[in-house]
Amino acid sequence: MNIAIDGPAGAGKSTIARLAAKELGFIYVDTGAMYRALALYLLDSHTNVDDDAELRSSLENVHINIVYEAGVQHVFVDLQDVSTEIRSEKVGNMASTTSALAPVREKLLDLQRDIAKKNDVIMDGRDIGTNILPDAELKIYLTASVDVRAKRRYDELVLHGEAPDLETIKKGIETRDYQDMNRALSPLKQAEDAILIDSSDMSIEEVVNKIVDLANNIK
Ligand code: C5P
Repeated sequence: MNIAIDGPAGAGKSTIARLAAKELGFIYVDTGAMYRALALYLLDSHTNVDDDAELRSSLENVHINIVYEAGVQHVFVDLQDVSTEIRSEKVGNMASTTSALAPVREKLLDLQRDIAKKNDVIMDGRDIGTNILPDAELKIYLTASVDVRAKRRYDELVLHGEAPDLETIKKGIETRDYQDMNRALSPLKQAEDAILIDSSDMSIEEVVNKIVDLANNIK
């Protein structure tokens, strides 16, 4: 069984998907982490992403690997575990830019579909219900207000030892929403058959319970 969770940055997708996956005994697949890992690689390798030929040849030289340790997803760029490094705002903003590029999306499409084919998964991202897993048995579109999402991201970064500025985070989220929703390739939008959940005034537990209930009803 496949569950797709899409929605904008900071809606709580990863926290909620991780907990729901644990309850259901599914594998949680964080596709944003894959885009972040590629963005980190493109930054570190000083690839000129505006040059299509250079971008394609640079992508040919890298392998993104996903490894599960005790149910936790680790992302590798070649042999390097980048799971922590990819969480910075810099990498997140770069991922939003580079994820609009066709060679980047093509590289991750098969990897994502392959994992979903072999496992019961909860996969979160931007185009999972609309593009990657159009036949997913359950599709959720999880959102929250910009203010709530900015505050959540701020708290998360503080927890990771960063010293963020709330207004900068808010602007970053607005820019990322715009880019993700308005790009030509696989833009973020609610699939027609997705269930909308606005988590602005809901606790994590309430959202998780709702998704687990929905999944159990169709299992
Ligand atoms: O979800 P997260 O913030 O980690 O994703 C980082 C960026 O990767 C997003 O802003 C989005 O541009 C991109 N992304 C995507 N498609 C997905 C998952 C993430 O384009 N399925």
